Amino acid sequence: MEKIRMKTPLVEMDGDEMTRILWKMIKDELITPFIDLKSEYYDLGLKYRDETNDQVTIDAAEATKKYGVAVKCATITPNAARVEEYGLKKMWKSPNGTIRAILDGTVFRTPIIVKGIEPVVKCWKKPITIARHAYGDVYRNVEMRIPGPGKVELVYTPADGSGEQRVTVHDFEGAGVVQGTHNLDDSITSFARSCFEYALARKEDLWFASKDTISKTYDHRFKDIFQEMYDSEYAEKFKAAGITYFYTLIDDAVARIMKSEGGFIWACKNYDGDVMSDMLSSAFGSLAMMTSVLVSPHGYYEYEAAHGTVQRHYYKYLKGEETSTNSVATIFAWSGALRKRGELDSIPELCDFADKLEQATIDTIESGKMTGDLVRITTLKNVKKLNSEEFIQAIHMELERKLYEV
Ligand code: NAP
Ligand code: MG
Repeated sequence: MEKIRMKTPLVEMDGDEMTRILWKMIKDELITPFIDLKSEYYDLGLKYRDETNDQVTIDAAEATKKYGVAVKCATITPNAARVEEYGLKKMWKSPNGTIRAILDGTVFRTPIIVKGIEPVVKCWKKPITIARHAYGDVYRNVEMRIPGPGKVELVYTPADGSGEQRVTVHDFEGAGVVQGTHNLDDSITSFARSCFEYALARKEDLWFASKDTISKTYDHRFKDIFQEMYDSEYAEKFKAAGITYFYTLIDDAVARIMKSEGGFIWACKNYDGDVMSDMLSSAFGSLAMMTSVLVSPHGYYEYEAAHGTVQRHYYKYLKGEETSTNSVATIFAWSGALRKRGELDSIPELCDFADKLEQATIDTIESGKMTGDLVRITTLKNVKKLNSEEFIQAIHMELERKLYEV
């Protein structure tokens, strides 16, 4: 069989530890036998990031701007222990943070649903994708302990020297605490645009929620920016795509989601997204079954797994012990990136390949062949626990059947 040809290269960002091992297996078994892979390779493994003073991370992000689509392996975010373990020159920043800052993107996380790994919430039939605004609010706060009686005020001093503005936060009669948070119109606007674009790309409804009835200026600003952008730029496109934009209060959103069947995108303010994404990923079953895509308002996409480098399994692997690490989210990062490349370059065979790769992965699990993490939580009977390599080989067999047998 002839391999599928690509036009534009995919930006390939390799990573660390167990996911780096899986990365190579996935390429060798599931990608390069079927696709004449055109990729521009960047090694984001910690060793090479250190050698290049992290320049490679910046180069990879710049390449994503140039080509539009990237696929990324999980990477170590160094802490003190890693600085020692790898003898690093410096405690380099989180690669994901660096890339996100350059692409100005929003992260969307979607669970992969298979029969036998049932969501805790029984009515959830389709995935709920969560988008977290990754700037400001409590994550950039300043706070103070108030030791005793006194007045706390918010003061704005305009740069142009015009009249200052002041509001009283509280007249303290005793000890307490205060907090100052902020956000930026530019950042909220980018977030809103990424959300509307991604909803169109997935043809799914978009929900957004805040607490605008209580926070009449701060949260209301978020609501207004979303609504104005929707009305002026997206209402018609949404109508044509048969999808809707829905705004409600955050508590109402949470209550509705528990009774929904899923199949939409939920845009969250920073704190809501932090909390709710952990709630959703555990309720959907497993972090190893959660994909993640960074969508920039300028139309760049970077796909990855939501989990980390699975360090504990890697140390077993290094000792020569058998591992059973779940590669599903990383496989879906590849399929997501290839599908997007296929869409942008008008290569229907590439999109079709991505669909079949995902279906082969799901069918493999539903036939009872899975990794240890899923064996522990599945409701299927007669399951077989496969090791890391066997699982990918089983998907390969299934994929060949789908591609070559009509
Ligand atoms: P992790 O790699 O997500 O793994 C935590 C635990 O979750 C594992 O020990 C394993 O549990 C389970 N798990 C996660 N993914 C799995 C998979 N694919 N298959 C089977 N089990 C899986 O988180 P971590 O160990 O806290 O972090 C390790 C490194 O990853 C850190 O250096 C961190 O900086 C980095 N990290 C990177 C990213 C990213 O690049 N996007 C995200 C998060 C963390 P058991 O041990 O019980 O089997
Ligand atoms: Mg969290």
